[in-house]
Amino acid sequence: MTAGTLLRNVRIPNFEEFSVSPLSHVLIKDGRISGIDPARPDTRDRTGDRVRDNAPDNAPDSTTEGAPHSAPRPVEEGPVTEIECDGGYLVPGCVNTHAHTAMTLLRGTAEDLSPEDWFNRRIWIYEKNLTPEDVYLGTLLGSVEMLCNGTTAVADHYFMMENAYRAYRESGIRADCAPAVFGVGEFVEAELQRSLEFLREFRNKDDRITVSLGPHSPYLCPESFLQRVASYADEMGLRMHIHVSETRSQVEKSIRETGRTPVQILYDTGVLRSGTILAHAYYAEEHDFSLIHSVGAGVAHCAKTYMKFADFHDFLPRARASGVPVGLGTDGAASNNTMNIFEVARDAALLAKAATASPEAGPLSQVLPLLFGGGQVLGIENYGTICPGAVADCVVLSCDTPNMQPGHDIFADILYSLSDRNIRTVIVDGLHCVQDGRHLTVDTEALYREVSERKSYIMRHHDGPMQVYDT
Ligand SMILES: [Zn+2]
Repeated sequence: MTAGTLLRNVRIPNFEEFSVSPLSHVLIKDGRISGIDPARPDTRDRTGDRVRDNAPDNAPDSTTEGAPHSAPRPVEEGPVTEIECDGGYLVPGCVNTHAHTAMTLLRGTAEDLSPEDWFNRRIWIYEKNLTPEDVYLGTLLGSVEMLCNGTTAVADHYFMMENAYRAYRESGIRADCAPAVFGVGEFVEAELQRSLEFLREFRNKDDRITVSLGPHSPYLCPESFLQRVASYADEMGLRMHIHVSETRSQVEKSIRETGRTPVQILYDTGVLRSGTILAHAYYAEEHDFSLIHSVGAGVAHCAKTYMKFADFHDFLPRARASGVPVGLGTDGAASNNTMNIFEVARDAALLAKAATASPEAGPLSQVLPLLFGGGQVLGIENYGTICPGAVADCVVLSCDTPNMQPGHDIFADILYSLSDRNIRTVIVDGLHCVQDGRHLTVDTEALYREVSERKSYIMRHHDGPMQVYDT
């Protein structure tokens, strides 16, 4: 017998047709959505705005075998946990397609700076202070934050990944771990070997947590190094996750020095291939988009980070027109401040409008699918829809707050009005992780105390950064 979860009285928005299902019951079993049945009509408030008051008394009896419109039950009766959702909206969990999760510990330490000063005078100095335990704590904090704001999967690119892995196991979030390696500096070989050891040890340990190779970027990895990483990807059957074409100056410098764009260099070295996650590609050119599309790679768009660096560019309309798969990312909390994909989606829409000076740019139909688009970029099958057989990574949104009333258009409300207070229930891989803003297993009070105690140690200054950013 397998335990199941029954979400009672949800409405399911369809992000392709922009329609909403009747009130339904959804059964989750073995990490998948196994059945969706309509709830009895009398459980639905006719105005749709105060379902909560009449749901418990009038809700259908899901234990009545064969009753008309009864909730679906597993064929082999196992224990089923029922969660009353009071007419909330059931949506797929958001995907954070590019993050440095442990950087939650550096939140708020580098504001109002150019990218050069942000890296060289702050972040790459503070990061030298981080211990393995800090990476664990920062990743656990970021994971709890993501789950509580409706993000159920993350592609993480960072250091000391065995400690991040431990945090992902504990938090319950779905994750891909790419140990970051620089291709320059005195520790290149040692870092590369250490990352390979991590990948070999953790590659098949947990279905929920995958691993990838994580070369940092073309500007900090020579072509010979990128070729080596690509050959390891072949050998181990793993994907790659890398930064590319983040700023206009990076692309201009690459063309000046090599005659090629950074994306072209990734293609030439074998790094750009099916399944590769490209963080940013913000200044990808038309030919770059063609290359990305032709190989089947995907892009993580981190709109809030770009706007904080005062870098407004029409990436999104061009990327969507090119057909490349796009997901949203938070990058690290030192630039993005939060780990909230709903917020990044809102910023992506605003950035598209500002960069093109057109209010019609970044419409709901273009931006809302990006919330879950990272599922395709990460190669998670059957992700991002609510239907039988789909991965049971999902979120129930409640609308009983002023910011979601009166509820003319749930799609507009999700993009432009939603706050963390509307995240009611979060389920990952069929397991209930968050209820009413509270993580159900992590002791968050103790966690907040521990990360607070690390603040002064992390802010110590050294003589120089771990690398030099000069693009
Ligand atoms: Zn990044």
